[in-house]
Amino acid sequence: MHNFDYHRPTSLADAAKRLSGEAKLVAGGMTLIPTLKQRLAQPSSLVDLGGIAELRGIKPEGGGLTIGAMTTHAEVAHSAEVKKTIPALAVLAEGIGDPQVRNRGTIGGSISNNDPAADYPAGLVALGATVITDKRRIAADDFFKGMFETALQDGEIVTAVSFPRPDKAAYMKFPNPASRYAMVGVFVARTGGGIRVAVTGAGPGVFRATEMEKALAGNFSADAIKSVKIPAAGLNSDMHGSAEYRAHLVNVMARRAVTACS
Ligand SMILES: Cc1cc2nc3c(=O)[nH]c(=O)nc-3n(C[C@H](O)[C@H](O)[C@H](O)COP(=O)(O)OP(=O)(O)OC[C@H]3O[C@@H](n4cnc5c(N)ncnc54)[C@H](O)[C@@H]3O)c2cc1C
Repeated sequence: MHNFDYHRPTSLADAAKRLSGEAKLVAGGMTLIPTLKQRLAQPSSLVDLGGIAELRGIKPEGGGLTIGAMTTHAEVAHSAEVKKTIPALAVLAEGIGDPQVRNRGTIGGSISNNDPAADYPAGLVALGATVITDKRRIAADDFFKGMFETALQDGEIVTAVSFPRPDKAAYMKFPNPASRYAMVGVFVARTGGGIRVAVTGAGPGVFRATEMEKALAGNFSADAIKSVKIPAAGLNSDMHGSAEYRAHLVNVMARRAVTACS
C-alpha cells in the first residue's frame, strides 16, 4: 500500500474542501481498501465519510424513502421503515455479500463504484430513484453510465438516494456462489408511471429490459414474458457463465420477480 494522508471530517462542507488533487473518498472501504492494497489506486489522501452524521439514516419522505449515502446494507436490510415502504429493497440489501460486507458496505459507496454485478443499480433504475449529491439531483437513469462509471464529477459527493414508493416490487438474483455478487439480478417495479424491469450482472452495466416491460404492461404475469428473449450479444461471458446462460437467467429471474410481485 502506498502512503497517504487520512482525514475524517465531521461535516459535508469540510469533506468537500479536502477533496482536491488526488484525494479519494472512502465509505465502507469494501472495494476501495482492497484496491489500495493491490496498488491499483494511489490517492494522496483518503477522506473518510464515516464521521459525518448527516450522511447516515433512513427517512420517510413524500410517501417514499430517502436513504443517506453512509447507510450500510445491513441497516437497509433490517430497517422497519424499508420493510414497510419498499420491502423489495430490504430483500436486495439482505442478499448483498456476507454479514461483514453488509455491515461495512454503504449504499453511497455501492452506487458510486457501479460494479456491473452490484445489486443496488437495478433497484435504483427500476424504482426510478434519484441520486442526491452535494451539488445536484441526478435521475438513476442518467447516473449509471457503464462499467464502473457514473455521472459523478470529480469531487462530487453522493449524500443520499431518494426512492418513490412502488405499488409492487420484487428483486430476484442468481448469486455467484463464491462472492454473492449478481450473476444476474432482476428488479421489477410497478408504479403509477408504469412497469420497469432493470437487470444487473448480465451486461457491462445495469439496463432496462424494455421488451419485457411492454409485455408486462398488457398482462402483468410471469407467462407474459416467458417467450421474451434477451439477446446474448453484448452480455458478460466469463468463467462463471456464458452470455447465453446469463440471457437465459434474465428471463428466469424476471419471471420469478413478477410472480413475487403478484
Ligand atoms: C466479498 C465481497 C462481496 C460483495 N458482494 C456484493 C454483492 O453481492 N452485491 C453487491 O451489490 N455488492 C457486493 N459487494 C460490494 C459491497 O457491497 C460495497 O457496496 C462496495 O464494496 C462499495 O461500498 P463501500 O461503502 O465499501 O465503498 P468504498 O469501497 O469505500 O468506496 C467505493 C468507491 O466509491 C467512492 N465513494 C464511496 N462513497 C462515496 C460517496 N458518498 N460519494 C461519492 N463517491 C463515493 C469511493 O471513493 C470509491 O471509489 C461485495 C464486496 C465484497 C468485498
